[in-house]
Amino acid sequence: MARTVLITGCNRGLGLEFAYQYARDGWHVHACARDLVHAEALQALEARFPEQINLHTLDVNKDGQIKALDRVLDNISIDLLINNAGYYGPKGVAFGTLERELWRQVLETNTLSPLMLTQALYPRIAASELKTIAFLSSKVGSITDNTAGGGYYYRSSKTALNQVVRSLSIDLSGAGVKVVALHPGWAQTDMGGSNALITPEESVTALRSLLNGLTQEQSGDFINYDGSTLPW
Ligand code: NDP
Repeated sequence: MARTVLITGCNRGLGLEFAYQYARDGWHVHACARDLVHAEALQALEARFPEQINLHTLDVNKDGQIKALDRVLDNISIDLLINNAGYYGPKGVAFGTLERELWRQVLETNTLSPLMLTQALYPRIAASELKTIAFLSSKVGSITDNTAGGGYYYRSSKTALNQVVRSLSIDLSGAGVKVVALHPGWAQTDMGGSNALITPEESVTALRSLLNGLTQEQSGDFINYDGSTLPW
């Protein structure tokens, strides 16, 4: 039977590539984006794989939309939830110019919302075959890796996300659910920029291969796209 994946932030970048690759490989893809009307590339993908892809409007920061998504999913179980949507916030903001509200927006999108969405959809994941939850984290959320400073909003949001992943992995281990934080590499997207080292195709191909072979022992780990474990 075809597996089911639900992915957030599918209108561009890594989310779009995840949706494409899983649909191409015969998965049932629930692809979410906050503005479907302007998501031309995602609409084109749905037109190409109409049997495989269902589109959903989801601003991950809106609880009402999370509830509506859960309702519309009816009795569907989700093998793999990919919390992909992310927000860097304004770039180059240095200590001395930090603003509470801007930080709050980054934390909301990168930390609070993935956990709230996971909580809302959890019964569907627990009822599935694969029972896997992936969070797109970032190496810059690693405290060990932070030798450059700065990046207060984004770094702290991913560091906190990593802690969420570890707790979830412990709390859900009894139910056989696997939970991981993934670093996708420095990938050429709007966020990664054009100087990034790998293409979205390379990043997502590697991440999918890693997820495919994921073991219960790896649950709670922070994993690089090449499969190596990253320091917290
Ligand atoms: P992009 O900036 O290219 O895409 C971000 C995606 O997240 C867009 O689809 C965007 O939608 C969506 N998004 C942002 N806020 C919301 C929201 N409130 N509700 C729903 N969707 C939202 O980023 P990438 O594709 O590069 O990144 C994907 C993930 O990988 C992110 O979590 C990022 O932090 C992480 N990552 C990326 C790296 C890279 O080098 N690219 C490196 C390390 C981590 P919209 O168009 O509506 O804004």
